[in-house]
Amino acid sequence: MGINMAIKSVDYIVTAKHYGNGSARGYIRKTQQKIHRERGVAVTIKNLDQAPAGAPVTARIWQGQWIADCECNSASFVDPDEPIFMCFGCGNRANGSRPRPVSFPPENERQEIERLLLERPVDDLAGLTDLERAGMAKPVLYVQVQGGADPLSLPLVRSWQPGETVEDLHKQQDEPIRKWKRELKEGKAKNHGVQ
Ligand SMILES: [Zn+2]
Repeated sequence: MGINMAIKSVDYIVTAKHYGNGSARGYIRKTQQKIHRERGVAVTIKNLDQAPAGAPVTARIWQGQWIADCECNSASFVDPDEPIFMCFGCGNRANGSRPRPVSFPPENERQEIERLLLERPVDDLAGLTDLERAGMAKPVLYVQVQGGADPLSLPLVRSWQPGETVEDLHKQQDEPIRKWKRELKEGKAKNHGVQ
């Protein structure tokens, strides 16, 4: 017997502010302090309290979390309400150690993308906090994608790539979610992790 209680899944997209006492800059400061404490490395951050400057990075959603990638291949949490990016892989050295701006989809679209991704059921039983749960969440549904000769089975994760439209998300998930809900009602699908 598995655990089959109707626990509630994380119902928001995690951002930098959830790691930084309510602000993206708070997250940047906290990370800087943590690196200093744990590794003895003092990361220089210039103009943190000013508007970010330089080439913007592009935000994406990875496993229920807003992140942005740096050219150095590292990534950092970001927040749509405070679009500022500091990479702790390279310290934004190529940007003169200054934080960079972040591009997000337009506000309406951003909210709709988040809403649709949160409809995707996940098993997020593992983890002690919402932040751990979001990162460790396992997809419940798999979707069949026609890939050459054989159909591919891809997990319906709470991830979004720049360029994916709201329409694309509907195409990916509406039918599998409808089917899953029907099976839940009939007692054929597992419901754990979902209210
Ligand atoms: Zn970097």
